[in-house]
Amino acid sequence: MIFRQLFDSVSSTYSYLLASRRGGEALIIDPVLDKVDRYIQLLNELDLRLVKAVDTHLHADHITGLGALRDRTQCITVMGEQSKADVVSMRLADGEKLQIEGVNLDVIYTPGHTDDSYSFVMSDRVFTGDTLLIRGTGRTDFQNGDARAQYESIFNRLLRLPDSTLVFPAHDYKGDTVSTIGEEKAFNPRLQVTSVAEYAELMNNLHLPDPKMMDVAVPANMHVGFSQEQIALKGWALTPSEAMMLIGRPDVAFVDLREQGERAREGEIPGSLHTPYPELGENVSCGGILHELGATKQIIFYCAFGERSAMAVQAAHDLGIASALHIQGGIAAWKMAKGPLFTR
Ligand code: FE
Repeated sequence: MIFRQLFDSVSSTYSYLLASRRGGEALIIDPVLDKVDRYIQLLNELDLRLVKAVDTHLHADHITGLGALRDRTQCITVMGEQSKADVVSMRLADGEKLQIEGVNLDVIYTPGHTDDSYSFVMSDRVFTGDTLLIRGTGRTDFQNGDARAQYESIFNRLLRLPDSTLVFPAHDYKGDTVSTIGEEKAFNPRLQVTSVAEYAELMNNLHLPDPKMMDVAVPANMHVGFSQEQIALKGWALTPSEAMMLIGRPDVAFVDLREQGERAREGEIPGSLHTPYPELGENVSCGGILHELGATKQIIFYCAFGERSAMAVQAAHDLGIASALHIQGGIAAWKMAKGPLFTR
């Protein structure tokens, strides 16, 4: 197991790099834009392939590294389904799994600090974002924060994890790096309350100044989407209605790049093949199944929001699959256009 806790001293942010082995897939939680060069260097040094970059919530105190990491590594950008970021390529909901090769995180919706805050549990540890900090909790006075929701998230979700669970937060301003659930129950001053009302009273009277970066970071972090316009200008995009006309044609192959969980939740375009995006590299390379398929059929990639498929179209064209197209806006746009969906 590879586990690295990385620190941005400007915003006191912790970012976490996870992978099951050298040479394998990696994921990063809460990357900071200014540190992207450092992450790329470390990924190279450890011979890791970044597959997912995840934000626990929309940050107000630093600019996320999600967009830059996607542009440099073609990784999947991930946030919770409530996120107001313009487009992220994959959205998670409570109870789902966040997975890469050899790493499995349970996804818990923990609103309160913001209404899009998530925590991720991995066997002996939990990544709590700004929901639960070491001897503190994330403020609840902006970005649809809600002290009562945070109380529920902390007391009814996080504190029910085993006492020995390691707590890795998104920030620490005092130099602490890790705690445990048991330790926070006993010593976190914000948790020594007897009711939700008492907690709300405490949180609503903190009178904190706005974060220094807030006016810059929030708008910047809302716009991390991949520009699908560039792909459309190259003539490689179909609208959902154009793609619907091609269903059932023997010379056309619809290729779903999403994960199994997304397919089960949203449904599939009838008759489509499934090759998950992280395996795209080998599939479109010479000798890969999509390379073979692209020689005789028109490939139409699709995913959840059109981001993974836009990157896939670019990769396919780069490798000589000249007919590859994608559905702009993905299944989200497909549903709006009332495209047919099949659920197993
Ligand atoms: Fe935050």
